[in-house]
Amino acid sequence: MTTALASGDRTGGCNAPSILRERGQREVFCGLTSIVWLHRKIQDAFFLVVGSRTCAHLIQSAAGVMIFAEPRFATAIIDERDLAGLADVDAELDRVVDQLLERRPDIRLLFLVGSCPSEVIKLDLSRSAARLSAKLLPDVRVLNYSGSGIETTFTEGEDACLAAMVPDLPAEDATAERSLLVVGALADVVEDQFSRLFAELGVGPVRFLPPRQAHRFPPAGPNTFFLLAQPFLTATARALEERGAKRIAAPFPLGVEGTTAWVKAAGDVWGVDPDRFSSVIERPCQRAEQALARYRAQLAGKRVFFFPDSQLEVPLARFLAREMGVELVEVGTPYLNQQLLACELDLLPEGTAFSEGQDVDRQLGRCYAAAPDLVVCGLGLANPLEADGMSTKWAIELIFTPIQGYEQAGDLAELFAKPLRRRDRLVA
Ligand code: SF4
Repeated sequence: MTTALASGDRTGGCNAPSILRERGQREVFCGLTSIVWLHRKIQDAFFLVVGSRTCAHLIQSAAGVMIFAEPRFATAIIDERDLAGLADVDAELDRVVDQLLERRPDIRLLFLVGSCPSEVIKLDLSRSAARLSAKLLPDVRVLNYSGSGIETTFTEGEDACLAAMVPDLPAEDATAERSLLVVGALADVVEDQFSRLFAELGVGPVRFLPPRQAHRFPPAGPNTFFLLAQPFLTATARALEERGAKRIAAPFPLGVEGTTAWVKAAGDVWGVDPDRFSSVIERPCQRAEQALARYRAQLAGKRVFFFPDSQLEVPLARFLAREMGVELVEVGTPYLNQQLLACELDLLPEGTAFSEGQDVDRQLGRCYAAAPDLVVCGLGLANPLEADGMSTKWAIELIFTPIQGYEQAGDLAELFAKPLRRRDRLVA
């Protein structure tokens, strides 16, 4: 996708880092890709993409290895007749939804997901969702959001999906006690670990967005304190604040330092005693430190270049630089939300080179000139870079793999160490 804005403006501020802002051709998957992990997270939801055969192929191939008998996503294909405005798309959508619900009576939450084609023909999916919800409630709730490549990168797809859920979250009871809402899709095993940690600290009740089931939509209101588990949830955070919920500012739970600071930020709101906090985190911290020690020798001193892809780049860079001794060559990210990332930016080494947006050719030029030991990038760039002798890590793997929390810290380091070991074996 190409936009015509000027490329290469560099900006910085008092506590703001110096950022190279680029607006050129970019190589990032669209928001439909997030369906691959979201459909596994919300177990009774179904994602109906209103799109083209290209959209259908994208999700099928992205999720291909995970498809078993009945996937919980599909594509309602907009064909040439629809594009020419000859068919009544609303009636067609109703027919597809009726068929789907007849075949899959277990569906409780249906997302109509917009795409480039549905945007191009200006299909108003919010109107369709409201109409279908009115018809199907209370059995099925219908929501909509856009996963179009015109509007979203793959992690922004999750943000759009969660933001679409926020207005439908129930209100808190008038007498509601203070509650913690952890926001961002996490693997169930990670969620369970955090639930146990918060329970031991006396922080709670703790709820999660997205929920595992549609009937467990968490309430939101002025007594809700929310902690983002993912850094790319700009629209969701805004929507929750509009409901009166309060964001707890924190780094993200990657690595020992990030996890401790993230858990502690919630603990501070609940006034957890420092001794109790230290004793609760002591053992998991030790286990994580031991796991990381194995990788430090492999990663220390290595030079890493991030292309903009998942929006996880800044917390990942902070983890690699501070806990693994990595040297950051460039930290590229599709969009740098300085408010949500303020605690992360404070921790990064002074003088870290950031870039926001992308002009892929210029960035490739900088990457080749720097000759880093490891490049973190999208699938489209990885193969050519590998062919030119570089070690790469697919950024999307960092979204599919459970990497948050103490127990996953070693797995997170392994994701970066593995391509370096492979390269060492190849050149040996
Ligand atoms: S939404 Fe757009 S970018 Fe994504 S697969 Fe469909 S056509 Fe391609």
